[in-house]
Amino acid sequence: MKEGKLIVFSAPSGSGKTTIVRHLLKQEELNLEFSISATSREKRGEEVNGKDYYFLSAKEFKTKIKNEAFLEWEEVYRDNFYGTLKTEVERIWALGKHVIFDIDVSGGLRIKRKFPEQTLAVFVKPPSIDELKIRLKKRKTESADKINMRIAKASAELATAPLFDVVIENDNLDKALKEAYTLVSDFINKSSDC
Ligand code: 5GP
Repeated sequence: MKEGKLIVFSAPSGSGKTTIVRHLLKQEELNLEFSISATSREKRGEEVNGKDYYFLSAKEFKTKIKNEAFLEWEEVYRDNFYGTLKTEVERIWALGKHVIFDIDVSGGLRIKRKFPEQTLAVFVKPPSIDELKIRLKKRKTESADKINMRIAKASAELATAPLFDVVIENDNLDKALKEAYTLVSDFINKSSDC
């Protein structure tokens, strides 16, 4: 099977990485396909199974862990498991496309360690923790408790930024989108041997 490249976007929840990833996916010349993660968290709003996530029960998720079906997995928040299935990356490579991931910092770094040459690991940095809180509240998808849980985790995640290949500061979305496009495009076109 021909292997493509792996483009990882990681950031604290609410940093805007999903917006950046969606923007890149629309640029057909980049030939990217979104890695649909598996998760045991509940479906939110308009989310669709098999499009946004593969929604599994905690029991199903744990069986897959036991069967070594994951490239990486994390209990990102208590009782909420998230992971990248090996079959997902294989599916995308079989399409002749590059994989783009929207995953947490530990998962992102794990993929970088497993495929150091093939992976571009990008950290998206929010302007500040206060701004992050405002964005999460505006999004109105989580309860106050869940927002606090995400904020508590964000501080620890920010400390991992230097471990990534590159950091994008998302204080101005237009600028961040352009920067992300250039980085990904350069990385994909850098060499054609993988
Ligand atoms: P959300 O619940 O907001 O969709 O995602 C919560 C966090 O889990 C986000 O930081 C998201 O990037 C991360 N996440 C989503 N999929 C995966 C995955 O497959 N592996 C890991 N490690 N984290 C993931």
